[in-house]
Amino acid sequence: MDVGATKVGPSRLPLWAAGVLALVCSAILAFSGWSEWTSRNAKLHGAEVDLGNLARSLTQHVEDTFELADSLLRGVVTALETDDGKPGAIERLQTILKARKATLGRIRGIFAYGANGDWLATTEDVTLANYNNADRDYFTHHRTSADRSLLIGRPVQSKSGGQWVITLSRRWNHADGSFGGVVLATIDVAYFAEFYRQFDVGPEGTISLMSREGLVLADNAEPDPSRLGRPVLEAIPYHPRSGTMRFRRAGEESDRIAFYQHAQRYPFLVLATRTEAEVLARWLRDATVRFTVLLSLLALVVAIGIFLVRQLLERQQLAAALAAKEENFRLLAEGSSDIVTRIELDECIGYVSPSTSRVLGWHPSQLLGKRAVSGVHPLDRPQLQEILDQLRRGIADEARVTYRMRRRDKSEIWVEATVRATRRPDGELDGFVAVTRDVTQQKALQGRLETLAIEDSLTGLANRRRFDERLLEEWGRAYREKTSLGLLMIDIDHFKAFNDTYGHPAGDECLHTVASVLADEAQRSSDLVARYGGEEFAILLPNTDAEGCVRLGERIRRALHAAGLVHAQNPAGIVTASIGGAVCRPGLERSAGPASLIEAADHALYLAKDGGRDRMVMAGEVVELPSSKAPATIPA
Ligand code: GH3
Ligand code: MG
Ligand code: MG
Repeated sequence: MDVGATKVGPSRLPLWAAGVLALVCSAILAFSGWSEWTSRNAKLHGAEVDLGNLARSLTQHVEDTFELADSLLRGVVTALETDDGKPGAIERLQTILKARKATLGRIRGIFAYGANGDWLATTEDVTLANYNNADRDYFTHHRTSADRSLLIGRPVQSKSGGQWVITLSRRWNHADGSFGGVVLATIDVAYFAEFYRQFDVGPEGTISLMSREGLVLADNAEPDPSRLGRPVLEAIPYHPRSGTMRFRRAGEESDRIAFYQHAQRYPFLVLATRTEAEVLARWLRDATVRFTVLLSLLALVVAIGIFLVRQLLERQQLAAALAAKEENFRLLAEGSSDIVTRIELDECIGYVSPSTSRVLGWHPSQLLGKRAVSGVHPLDRPQLQEILDQLRRGIADEARVTYRMRRRDKSEIWVEATVRATRRPDGELDGFVAVTRDVTQQKALQGRLETLAIEDSLTGLANRRRFDERLLEEWGRAYREKTSLGLLMIDIDHFKAFNDTYGHPAGDECLHTVASVLADEAQRSSDLVARYGGEEFAILLPNTDAEGCVRLGERIRRALHAAGLVHAQNPAGIVTASIGGAVCRPGLERSAGPASLIEAADHALYLAKDGGRDRMVMAGEVVELPSSKAPATIPA
């Protein structure tokens, strides 16, 4: 369960990391987008406020100007109406107007016309008789309309000065109420145009002074009479008296932000506009830079994020692979019948695999912290200790050793351990790992095989192979130590007949009995009794002289007699044997090696047979042959 849980956790981590990264990046983008949008709107709003303030103050300015002009007009109207018909009235008016000329300021001129359009008086320095203004729109308006309020007419080209002017006019009446004429004040369009050009509304921005009907009276553009007196807007809003609006002029790509302000007392309005593109140009530039920087940073963050997430994934794969490997090792360590032991530098057990329960009967927890050599047979401890010391000294990196261990139930087993020194990455020794295997059975089998290799299965004596080996060894020893080496060759008499009479199994039985007799008689531990072949035995007698050989041979012969194994076909009636003996001293004599000893003993045996059997002959001994042959001397 735990393993499952830990597997689920980390496997989703990169996904989470990627998700959080994406979320954070999106949040930053969204926030930055929102803040840019806010700042854009603030810019637009700021522009609206600025345009509003401008339109309001310019409206005030125009009102003041018109107020000034209108007060002059009203004064002239009053003078005309009061003095209407009185002699010298026009001359007085002319004088007054001339006198006012210097104080007119932004008012271009004041004119008084009669009912037929003739010029009665003016502030201008012109010959009055040359002009008639009956053709002007405002004149027609006043003549036909009894309305006495101020009329703001469309701009006209001055007849006296030639420049474009805005006209403000009032009607004046005769005493009977009939149309007396018109009083006119003019203001140069250029005056407003220049004044408006002082305000920064950008190259595309406009400031327009318009009549209530929407006809342009003056604006901040370069003088262009064609625009004057025409509408700039399709529809003029009257309610509320001021406000913002958006519109797009034909041929323009950007909307305009506009603020209009109607005058309180006169029928005109001021319209200030700026294109949105221009208002936002700087913001757009800055925002583009900011956004580019932000996107670059985000790209960097995303790149780093992707790199980290990939690292995370790689690590996770590594960790998973490692975990799988560890799991495999764990299974290996726990499932194997081998004991894996971690031996620390202090030679105490740091880890031991669970198989120790099966092999030694101890639970791993019972062995932790114990000395590694503590369960080892006391006789084998030095051997293991020596191996650990050698590994510690760096003489070898790995060593194999076989020793005995005591199980928990006090029984003893043989184990084979492969001990390996483990080192840290810097090469410093940090402990040992031992893989220990129960080899008790192998050991027994090996012992059995070894025995089989050197033992004769029928008699339990050493076999021919073992005899040959020992003969070589003892020959060498005798040579080195200059001692004598004796050999008896024993052959059962008429054994073929025994077999024939009693059967082969009985023959085997007999061989076994004879073997035990021989083994009993050869008493010294260094003596080796071997079955040389068939019913022939050999006894190797290290450090034994001829006398000793004879003594033993005779003892054997007697013992066979004493055994009394019935053998009807043998003249003695019991099993007897003939014995040939030989002795050599390899260190002191010249000889042809071990073979010569066998040869000599064999020859002696032959003589014993020849001499009538059931006897012992030593090589070099003079024997009486039962036949008429002369006595023979056998070479030693
Ligand atoms: P001699 O007195 O001359 O030695 O006569 P012998 O019959 O013993 O001579 P020989 O060497 O010809 O015969 C040996 C016999 O021993 C032949 C064989 O049947 C018998 N023999 C050899 N090995 C074994 C064995 O392992 N078991 C049995 N039962 N008989 C064996
Ligand atoms: Mg024989
Ligand atoms: Mg024989």
